[in-house]
Amino acid sequence: NLDVTFSTEGGYNETKEIINTFNQVLERLRSIDQSRQEFVSNVSHELKTPITSMRVLADSLILGDNVPVDIYREFMQDISDEIDRETKIINDLLTLVRMDKNATELNISQVNINNLVEQILKRVRPIAKTRSIEIIFESFRPVTADVDETKLSLAVTNLVENGVKYNNDGGWVRVSVNADHKYFYIKVSDSGVGIPKDAQTRIYERFYRVDKARSRETGGTGLGLAITQNVVKLHHGGIKLNSTPGEGTTFLVRIPLKYIE
Ligand code: ADP
Repeated sequence: NLDVTFSTEGGYNETKEIINTFNQVLERLRSIDQSRQEFVSNVSHELKTPITSMRVLADSLILGDNVPVDIYREFMQDISDEIDRETKIINDLLTLVRMDKNATELNISQVNINNLVEQILKRVRPIAKTRSIEIIFESFRPVTADVDETKLSLAVTNLVENGVKYNNDGGWVRVSVNADHKYFYIKVSDSGVGIPKDAQTRIYERFYRVDKARSRETGGTGLGLAITQNVVKLHHGGIKLNSTPGEGTTFLVRIPLKYIE
């Protein structure tokens, strides 16, 4: 039972100190327990949303008389989209949970960071093109670093995809790679909608979105930045954000060139 607090009244000083420490530990446990409960309730809600949509779509097809073929197809397409959505949420959740569990298990190798970024941009460009968004790559120097290639690739992909998702048609995303003697830097800037000040500290939280409708429309799960932040932390790096609503956003990732356990 975490709902107890021990009284320090009338005890000796040493006993009081021990009880105080004990109460602090209890307080910390309570807060962990609360965020765990919040997470579980968020997960249930997020997983239920696509299922509710599918239920409504399926019921209307089952109950409808002589549903025209084109309506039938359209609803089945919507159901298929909801299945994709559910799959994406589950996959992102698994990625996060696995990283929590195997916090130290990185698959480190020497990776050419410029190549890694270029590969990502190659994959994202066709999606950006459908909205006339230009993706620009700037390499200030060749960089090789000790990283987990798959995980870092995922982290950077999330940033670049967000730059496209939360952008205006005809906008741009600029990605640069740089390094000094100790760290390498990946900077992702965009000409998009920006992030309001009060939301800037919250966007790394699991399932937090500034604009739920927009995130949903673009296939977001609200887990992308949580994954990115996790990956950067596992590499003993840091992530910084600079954003002006209506003008755009810049994420700067800094990771040590050499990985030391
Ligand atoms: P999502 O799957 O919703 O994109 P993320 O964890 O990647 O989830 O991002 C969380 C939220 O942060 C997004 O829903 C969006 O509101 C905001 N966000 C992230 N990147 C950007 C960006 N480059 N420009 C504007 N808003 C952004």
